[in-house]
Amino acid sequence: MNRRRRIFEGKGKILFEGPEPGTLVQFFKDDATAFNKKKHEIVDGKGVLNNRISEYIFNHLNSMGIPTHFIKRLNMREQLIREVEIVPLEVVVRNIAAGSLSKRLGIDEGTALPRSIIEFYYKSDELDDPMVTEEHITAFGWATPQEIDDIMALSIRVNDFLAGLFLGAGIQLVDFKMECGRLWENDMMRIVVADEISPDSCRLWDTRTQDKLDKDRFRRDMGGLLEAYTEVARRLGILVDQERPMGTGPVLVQ
Ligand code: UDP
Repeated sequence: MNRRRRIFEGKGKILFEGPEPGTLVQFFKDDATAFNKKKHEIVDGKGVLNNRISEYIFNHLNSMGIPTHFIKRLNMREQLIREVEIVPLEVVVRNIAAGSLSKRLGIDEGTALPRSIIEFYYKSDELDDPMVTEEHITAFGWATPQEIDDIMALSIRVNDFLAGLFLGAGIQLVDFKMECGRLWENDMMRIVVADEISPDSCRLWDTRTQDKLDKDRFRRDMGGLLEAYTEVARRLGILVDQERPMGTGPVLVQ
């Protein structure tokens, strides 16, 4: 038996060679990291939940005609995806002030923003993902002006979809991060949504109680990370209501 080829290992996921050319397998790890890996823990079951939540979101995006790298979920921890050339940017869309925006601009967390705001960060662990403008992106050739337009249009559509999806589940979408890739089909290239969208990359607050249902529970040492992610999955209808008490591990709908 041959071991499959590992293409890349990141903080939360591993990419393996896929079964056919142009495909990859994306494996979700249980590692929780924050502050560029200065804080690191293993949270049993997190990868399974993120795989399912991200699958749910990407399936919806695909069916709405928003292009993504996602093909299908393979098993509890793995997805089949299209191989793309990742644009080295983290695209953050914000609806409510929180996190680094609150700190940088002195706006109280929880303040509704006058409109959704898109920000770009350059993907670089060595530099701690610095914020950049379109000027930097085009001058250094990380993306063309047309690609930036495509990325902004995609991110607004994803934000509209996600905000509505979560609102229906009693959750406010405060902000989220997404990544994009270049998908080549013969001589044609288009920008697609890549990576994952999960409570690791979104800020999600319970509409009624304002409880945090996202990675801030880990960043801010609040505990209850797995329970919060389980609650998000349950509200989206991904998990069945379980008779077993919480804490014995999520029960997944097959
Ligand atoms: N985010 C992410 N990966 C990063 C940085 C941010 O997924 O490397 C997400 C984060 O979960 C939040 C949004 O992007 O939903 C905005 O994060 P922010 O800029 O406020 O930074 P943070 O407070 O996380 O340092």
